[in-house]
Amino acid sequence: MLTAQMTSTDALTILQTIYGYENFRDQQQQIVDTLIRGEDALVLMPTGGGKSLCYQIPSLVRPGVGIIVSPLIALMQDQVDALKALNLQAAFINSSMSARSIAETEQALLAGNIDMLYVAPERLLMPVMLNLLDRCRIALFAIDEAHCVSQWGHDFRREYMGLSVLAERFAGVPRIALTATADERTRQEIADNLHLREAVSFVSSFDRPNIRYAIGEPAHPRDALLQFLDTHHKGEAGIVYCLSRKKVEQTADWLNSRGRDAVAYHAGMPAEVRELNQSRFLREDGLIVVATIAFGMGIDKPDVRFVAHLNLPRSIEAYYQETGRAGRDGLPSNAWMAYGLQDVINLRSMMAQSDADESHKRMENHKLETMLGLAELTSCRRQALLRYFGDHLDSPCGNCDNCLHPPQTWEATDAARKALSCVYRTGQRFGVTYVVDVLLGKSSERIERFGHDQLSTFGIGLELNASEWRNLFRQLIARGFLSVDVAGHGSVMLTEAARPVLKGEQTLHLRELPRGDRTRTRAPGRTKKAALAIADDDQPLWHALRGLRKQLSELAGVPAYVVFNDSTLADMIAIKPRDRSEMSSVTGVGQHKLEQYGDDFLDVIREHA
Ligand code: ADP
Ligand code: ZN
Repeated sequence: MLTAQMTSTDALTILQTIYGYENFRDQQQQIVDTLIRGEDALVLMPTGGGKSLCYQIPSLVRPGVGIIVSPLIALMQDQVDALKALNLQAAFINSSMSARSIAETEQALLAGNIDMLYVAPERLLMPVMLNLLDRCRIALFAIDEAHCVSQWGHDFRREYMGLSVLAERFAGVPRIALTATADERTRQEIADNLHLREAVSFVSSFDRPNIRYAIGEPAHPRDALLQFLDTHHKGEAGIVYCLSRKKVEQTADWLNSRGRDAVAYHAGMPAEVRELNQSRFLREDGLIVVATIAFGMGIDKPDVRFVAHLNLPRSIEAYYQETGRAGRDGLPSNAWMAYGLQDVINLRSMMAQSDADESHKRMENHKLETMLGLAELTSCRRQALLRYFGDHLDSPCGNCDNCLHPPQTWEATDAARKALSCVYRTGQRFGVTYVVDVLLGKSSERIERFGHDQLSTFGIGLELNASEWRNLFRQLIARGFLSVDVAGHGSVMLTEAARPVLKGEQTLHLRELPRGDRTRTRAPGRTKKAALAIADDDQPLWHALRGLRKQLSELAGVPAYVVFNDSTLADMIAIKPRDRSEMSSVTGVGQHKLEQYGDDFLDVIREHA
């Protein structure tokens, strides 16, 4: 047990000896110092930034127990396991436990034998729990996922509102609220609703430099996905997001039939199956989960190597939150997305049919348009993303698809005029497929019935093929020259913005139409790595280390990353330690893990020397 009267030098010692990390990152040191001094803190840091250490270390330095409020009961076990693997005294109390183990934990708490305790807000606020805490020495309160207190955000939880009582009832105990949600309004609500107006505020950059962004419109998205997985992520864990439950299941089956390990996750599945799949994803090494957006909140698996979207998310916030689940360990990771015209049509139709009031619909629509703007962008995606969140990046990032392979644009004015005028002449009553057939001069019973084979625009579009025309239409829709009647049959109509193009008053440059599959043909970048780079010579060692990690984690019944995460294994390969002392210089190898696992890993490294 660690005792009182510790200072920030002790914080560094704890970081190095217990966690096995050399230095604090960014603002971690200041945040830790603030709490150790007994002051409150409000921390906005992106996923993977290292929020946990900000309250864990002060919990150890300050006398008493650190109380961590977290909404995610299902994940408490893993968090506690990870701390126990460091030989720390951690526990949780929640509704899934027997009365007896709750009583035991309470005893340990009163005896001062617990460093950190995880509780859900509704449990913490029960009178019996508050009374119990009155009798304990408390080091601090950490309120994780603090954006749950904001009604403006998307994860509002009523129980969080009650947490303001901590301010009065435990006056003098420092509190820290943490979230990865960036915007100003959410931050304000956290400060107000948790009575943290006096708290020192720490806002990190929201950039996730290790994530490579790529967005494309491949003609065959599933094949493109498989190609992407085979090129960059053989045997690695990741998430594939789809919009509908049906597509989730189909995609999971399809990946399995192609020899990948994939499980499905969506709200329509029986709870047991869903939980099983989630826990397999957390524990196993290299499983793919195909999911609707219902999956992922609070998942702190550090080695998610990719997040793929097979549909367009409905907002940039959603896109950033979902892609943010990749690469929490700071290692190279990919955010890959394939989308198509149908996505835009589906999303617009879902929004049009929702019961929300007009102003809400307008806001949703605006968010979708902005997301589309990002997808259609021809310049650095990271700069655009950060700009959206009020953050700033001086120069293009060099680690997104547009930076690595600047998209070609072409002068599309003529083709766009043909497309728009064909929409006009066919009466703005038909979908894209039909209009494209007319442009290509395809005779069909329907086209003849309407007399559209007699139009001046019939067959004037032979310079492009059908998929190129569809792509052009998608861009015209995305840029607002055409709108889609989503309540009806998806017929396309001209908007006000189309007029200057039709009249020849505006020229139009569009993203070059894909010849083949752009997302697929993108070569891996030269400057930065898109995936974990283990040299060919080191592959056998890499597999052996992962195999050992798997064995040890199964033995201990904990997720693989609790033993050592990928960055630690990669560092072992870089250093190739020969003895315990060299092993202790590997990042993520602290005293306890050195004793527990050091020799086993040293043996494997020696065998491969
Ligand atoms: P967050 O909660 O902000 O998403 P975590 O606290 O889970 O992030 O940290 C992400 C990863 O970074 C973890 O694997 C953690 O051990 C590691 N990490 C955090 N701080 C440091 C540090 N100072 N040095 C090295 N690794 C760190
Ligand atoms: Zn870029």
